[in-house]
Amino acid sequence: MSIYIDPAVGASLRGFEVPEKLGFGTVMAPVMFRAVYQDGCWSRGELVPYAPLALDPAAKVLHYAQSCFEGMKAYRTEGGGIALFRPERNAVRMAHSAERLCMPPVPESLFMDGVRTVTAYCANLVPAASGESLYLRPFLIGTQADLSVSASTSYEYIVIASPSEAYHAGNMRLWVEREDARAAVGGTGDAKVGGNYAASLLSIARLKKRGYDQSLWLNPGNRKTVDELSGMNFFAVMDGELHTPALNGSILEGVTRDTLIDLARDLGYAVHERAIDIDDLLELVRSGTCNEAFACGTAAIISPISVFGDGDGQYELAQAPGPVAERLRAALLDIQEGRVDDRFGWMQSVEPVSLKD
Ligand SMILES: *Cc1c(COP(=O)(O)O)cnc(C)c1O
Repeated sequence: MSIYIDPAVGASLRGFEVPEKLGFGTVMAPVMFRAVYQDGCWSRGELVPYAPLALDPAAKVLHYAQSCFEGMKAYRTEGGGIALFRPERNAVRMAHSAERLCMPPVPESLFMDGVRTVTAYCANLVPAASGESLYLRPFLIGTQADLSVSASTSYEYIVIASPSEAYHAGNMRLWVEREDARAAVGGTGDAKVGGNYAASLLSIARLKKRGYDQSLWLNPGNRKTVDELSGMNFFAVMDGELHTPALNGSILEGVTRDTLIDLARDLGYAVHERAIDIDDLLELVRSGTCNEAFACGTAAIISPISVFGDGDGQYELAQAPGPVAERLRAALLDIQEGRVDDRFGWMQSVEPVSLKD
């Protein structure tokens, strides 16, 4: 299906001034993509000026949280081109998240039309310095105005974009969260949905008061093994080998996690996907066997962890950032920014649309 380009898009883009200070996910590109689902069919996608949504106050998303999203990046590559990193993985994951919330999955072709069209028209807004990117936020919401508890009959798929600086979380201090859970057994932990984030905010607010940055969530079933952070996956380095929690239904399958597993194995590291007992982990940190740990996700790529706090105990990592994290981060960024050959076939180039056309 062809994509409708609103005639006002050119003026929006030409009139847009990129602020000097970008931040991360703060400055919004002046255009967005949208498609509507109604009566069992998707409309054709359209690129329109960025604007507030007209939502009925009874829209299901506002009451029953029928909402899922993705986070991905377009990079400016060494030769000056623009490329997306493994976007098909985000398409598949968003379809999985949608199905979990009883929403119609966005067809992969429409998903890709959205991210590629926004990227192509915003090519000039993709910042050029290493680590900077155009952060893309595709999302899907239930829009039917009806307070009865049932799946919405209408939906909108929208893609917005944000020219962003490198996201530096710095060294992170993690709090082992033993009270709250961000996801339930059989719940939505393996889906990328806003509700999981809402459930994590109180924990983060509490631990900030204690001088920590992020919660380390335990498995909601056993409350003993490590799951992940609120929006990043978890890795620990023990005796030079990588350990990450195995996917168990309450962990979000990160594209960065998958990528780092492949990349680390390719660099010769052993990688173990397994259940990691939190008390064993803290003991291994204390003894020095675990000397490095990090979190990973699209936004920050890799953020080193400097300390785990648990009750009255503090468990400091010997190295933050450690050499394994630094090496993996450099190797991944080299691929994403086109400095080395894309041996894994992870990059998809996007042809910029010139506004004079
Ligand atoms: C998005 C997300 C991640 C990271 O996934 P990436 O695809 O690597 O960006 C990890 N955990 C949760 C809960 C997430 O929502």
